[in-house]
Amino acid sequence: MQEQFYKEALSADIFKYISEATEELQLESYVIGGYVRDFILQRGNAKDIDIVTVGSGIKLAQKVADLLPNKPKVQVFKTYGTAMLRYQDIEVEFVGARKESYSENSRNPEVSEGTLQDDQNRRDFTINALALSINKNSYGKLLDPFNGIQDLENKIIRTPLDPDITYSDDPLRMMRAIRFSSQLNFKIEDRSLQAISKNSERIDIITKERIVDELNKILASDKPSIGFLHLEKTGLLERILPELIALKGVEEVEGQKHKDNFYHTLEVVDNISENTEDVWLRWAALLHDIGKAPTKKFHKKNGWTFHSHEFVGSKMVFKLFKRLKMPLNNKMKFVQKMVLLSSRPIVLASEVTDSAVRRLIFDAGDDIDSLMTLCEADITTKNPKKFKRYHKNFELVRQKIKEVEERDHVRNFQPPITGEEIMETFNLKPCREIGQIKEAIKEAILEGIIPNEYEASYEFMVKKGEELGLIIEQ
Ligand code: ATP
Ligand code: MG
Repeated sequence: MQEQFYKEALSADIFKYISEATEELQLESYVIGGYVRDFILQRGNAKDIDIVTVGSGIKLAQKVADLLPNKPKVQVFKTYGTAMLRYQDIEVEFVGARKESYSENSRNPEVSEGTLQDDQNRRDFTINALALSINKNSYGKLLDPFNGIQDLENKIIRTPLDPDITYSDDPLRMMRAIRFSSQLNFKIEDRSLQAISKNSERIDIITKERIVDELNKILASDKPSIGFLHLEKTGLLERILPELIALKGVEEVEGQKHKDNFYHTLEVVDNISENTEDVWLRWAALLHDIGKAPTKKFHKKNGWTFHSHEFVGSKMVFKLFKRLKMPLNNKMKFVQKMVLLSSRPIVLASEVTDSAVRRLIFDAGDDIDSLMTLCEADITTKNPKKFKRYHKNFELVRQKIKEVEERDHVRNFQPPITGEEIMETFNLKPCREIGQIKEAIKEAILEGIIPNEYEASYEFMVKKGEELGLIIEQ
């Protein structure tokens, strides 16, 4: 029964070719790691297969490529002693079984040839050390030296060897442990959590790109707060995203408190993750309040305020992305825009005027839906009456947006009169007045003084020009 189950994991024909190549070269090969783990968890068809062979992984890859009908190219990574090939939509990575020993300042170990058991010892977690034989005489046999199967059943992240050494050797594993716990909804065993806390400073030797990869995977999980709470408790978040730690805590002055914006933020991220898979919108949720720490003030009359935290926050997004070596591209601009606009629909919710809605559509453009999704996720009140009322208000705002959109078409709108036309009409060279007139036309349309049409805009331009003392060229 068990054997049948594991044989199913090896039913794709790529495994037959690898088995054949292994036999011809008289090697011993196994599928190991993520593919085995995800098959047992039935997490869908993994497209990423890791093969370990006792001998040369590169030679095995070349042999497999020879046998495959499409003779794929083998990519060799000499420094790592690994090789990779693609077959159909599957990516297979080959490595020779190895022993590793680490030094203090690097996560790149010294490597020597080893047995399957040596190779399993160097794996990060028991659930990632599971191996399935693809040798003809034991095809489908599971090799599980650390009881990884039991840990899968009990939903536990545990290291095969001493956790303190495991995390210190390669601190990226701390991020991976937390990422798996968030992705799979697994508990991290206490000894591991303690070791991560103890070694948290060592995250500094890991490249920003690797850290961000893991952060993205945490954010992409169903309930990202699982990962972020672990990052916070172990001291990793302080080193990676101190802007979020700065949101922690509740202050009280003269009996007035503000909410804990760190835990609020995590709730918002969990909320939004129920409504969008877009990892950038999830980033926006994570960062939407970061401007609150530097703008926090207490006023005797008004209590706690966070004036222009949206503007300050959107500036902080740039610095944060830069520090983490994240791409400073349109995705970053999108996150900045979401942070900057994050309070706008809330103001609308109390009084929905046409002109305010037009302005919002104009400023948010195609991202108006994302912005509304963010604002709805931002409702974390525990008072059921308020919860219902706020959602209802946003529903009204959405409805209004739809109506105004259909009527006025202001999304991505370009005022119907161009700068060139203004220049021609008044016979102007480039000058300040052109910008003033353009801006006035835009304002008039957004305010609803004139409709979003050419004729009306032309008339308005003429009037505005006259006010500025300009003369129409006949
Ligand atoms: P996913 O593909 O979902 O990220 P994975 O477990 O397959 O998960 P990979 O990065 O593809 O992760 O690595 C494949 C295997 O290599 C892992 O299952 C694990 O056995 C091993 N591994 C990866 N990174 C490390 C590491 N930093 N330390 C020890 N073993 C590792
Ligand atoms: Mg993988």
